[in-house]
Amino acid sequence: ATPTALLVGTGRGAQLGILIKGPEVLESTRAVDTVVLDKTGTVTAGKMSLTDLHGDDDVLRFAAAVEHASEHPIARAIVAAAEERLGALPPVEKFRNAEGLGVVGQVEGKTVLAGRPALLDQHGITVGDEFAQVKTAAEARGATAVVVAWDGEARGVVVVADTVKPTSAKAVAELKALGLRPVLLTGDNTGSAQAIAAEVGIDEVIAEVLPADKVDVVKRLQAQGRVVAMVGDGVNDAAALAQADLGLSMGTGTDAAIEAGDLTLVRGDLRSAVDAIRLSRRTLGTIK
Ligand code: ADP
Ligand code: MG
Repeated sequence: ATPTALLVGTGRGAQLGILIKGPEVLESTRAVDTVVLDKTGTVTAGKMSLTDLHGDDDVLRFAAAVEHASEHPIARAIVAAAEERLGALPPVEKFRNAEGLGVVGQVEGKTVLAGRPALLDQHGITVGDEFAQVKTAAEARGATAVVVAWDGEARGVVVVADTVKPTSAKAVAELKALGLRPVLLTGDNTGSAQAIAAEVGIDEVIAEVLPADKVDVVKRLQAQGRVVAMVGDGVNDAAALAQADLGLSMGTGTDAAIEAGDLTLVRGDLRSAVDAIRLSRRTLGTIK
């Protein structure tokens, strides 16, 4: 394409709510055949809320006290529910964020853990059949279970759920119509990821990926000869966005993701990713 065509394309992008870092970005979009979609905050709204509490009020109170120090959407949901039901929360000390696993801290002299069973395993705590079943059932409907433990024992489960953005299923259908293969990538559990994928029409799911490993998933797909666009919003997506042949950041996401991407979808709507790919093909004359 001529420089003029690329500039016109870039201007058109701005009108569509797509901020393109440089005219050359439109060129790299052309060969994309795979679109990797982060789940939380990209396909889903990223605004979680509490749906179930298995255990007494202390389960919610201790979990929320520790989560208070975390910025994760799961943490926000637990804290909001606890503050509404129980009022002020006790302070947390020695807080530690176990990346992609959960949180740990001291509350009222007890070491409290809240997160995936793998986090409890690391501390030699068994989840138990009852809580494992609650977890499986929650995940089958696309929710996320947070197991809560203190004094060396699992005490309860807090279930939080996110909602799929209203435009995500349509966007996925349009990506497929353009001949692209959508892949759902998430740190969340496989059960929940598959439920969300089914809801929006994605067949390929890569779940339980630690934040630092998302970039390796992109590299692996590229090694298979696929040309990869990645759409993400989180700090944990930044390296993968930079590694992808085309990085698309949600304008509603974190600064780290926006800096790492080649273009920003201002509205945080997946349909803008479809618009970006169409715009590129049109600008470069592959479709009319
Ligand atoms: P995603 O890729 O969906 O943004 P993350 O990598 O941030 O997910 O987290 C992966 C998983 O780790 C979550 O689904 C959850 O099970 C657990 N987790 C992460 N942070 C927290 C937290 N603050 N509290 C409880 N669990 C957490
Ligand atoms: Mg995310």
